Amino acid sequence: MIACVIHGAKDLKIEERPEPRPEETEVLVRFGAGGICGSDLHYYHRGRVGDFALREPMVLGHEVAGEIVEVGRNVTKVRVGQRVAVNPTRACLTCDYCLSGKSNLCRNVRFFGSAARFPHVQGAFAELFTASEHQCVPIPDSLSYRLAACAEPFAVTLHAVARAGNILGRRVLVTGSGPIGVLAVGAVRLAGAAQIVVTDLFDEPLRIAERMGATQVVNVGAPSSEFEIFTREGGWFDVAIEVSGNARGLENCIDATRPGGRIVQVGLLPPGSSNVPVNKVTAKELEIAGTFRFHEEFQWAVDALIAGRIDVAPILSGAYKFPEATTAFELASDRQKAMKVSFVA
Ligand code: ZN
Repeated sequence: MIACVIHGAKDLKIEERPEPRPEETEVLVRFGAGGICGSDLHYYHRGRVGDFALREPMVLGHEVAGEIVEVGRNVTKVRVGQRVAVNPTRACLTCDYCLSGKSNLCRNVRFFGSAARFPHVQGAFAELFTASEHQCVPIPDSLSYRLAACAEPFAVTLHAVARAGNILGRRVLVTGSGPIGVLAVGAVRLAGAAQIVVTDLFDEPLRIAERMGATQVVNVGAPSSEFEIFTREGGWFDVAIEVSGNARGLENCIDATRPGGRIVQVGLLPPGSSNVPVNKVTAKELEIAGTFRFHEEFQWAVDALIAGRIDVAPILSGAYKFPEATTAFELASDRQKAMKVSFVA
């Protein structure tokens, strides 16, 4: 079988690899579709994500869906022939965090296509891959693999909204209009926000944010005072969701969130320390909450996609086969041309 393997910065290869075998509680999944994530792009361009650097070749990919083609002998929850969205998180289910319902903070987590551990956890951009039966959520024929693969990034945004608290009727700022930013708009809308303002440096992704439900978009790269209005009198928004992973984006959140409001930090800032005006956080009694991946929200995301409670089709850009991987990664890197680029079988 072939797999999409990153060896280092700008060193992406399509390689023949041995077919994996499922263990007793695992299944073998035939790849149906998968989305290229920002972290895949970081490995592609820089050979690292945040503080996690590549130390050996690694199969990329963690936003995936496919068909179960074989099951281990102790598998009871799923069967051969089922179409599934695959949760890339393999939590240990036995540590104190897993047992308290916070498996996203699992002490022993293995996450597809991540260099956080060594040996690295191989990803799922491969014709066949194995997963624990607990990672598989069945989907009906009515949901395409491409849309099902969006469950993972959508789950990230549902968890971010959960970290924001009750936003029914609130004014919400989302800084950053990449795939996570625009899916966050959908999640914020589902949670009942009254106003959703999205910022970015490019107009093209902001158009997609509008299609996902933003009530207003602001290009903060343009020389304009449009955003400044939101910073007056201490700040306009009840909640800000910082997705850009840029210190300037976080500063905009700090300036535009009202005293006593909450900022949810989704984006990963560059490695090391970031220059953030903490005194404003103090003086405005702002709360800054981190948010990391998701836990039960993966099931919620799949359910919402199946029920049609969110339409993620506006975020889909091109679809490619594995041999065209370099073209796909280059397109996915162009924020003015693409949002979510997919691989398809
Ligand atoms: Zn655990």
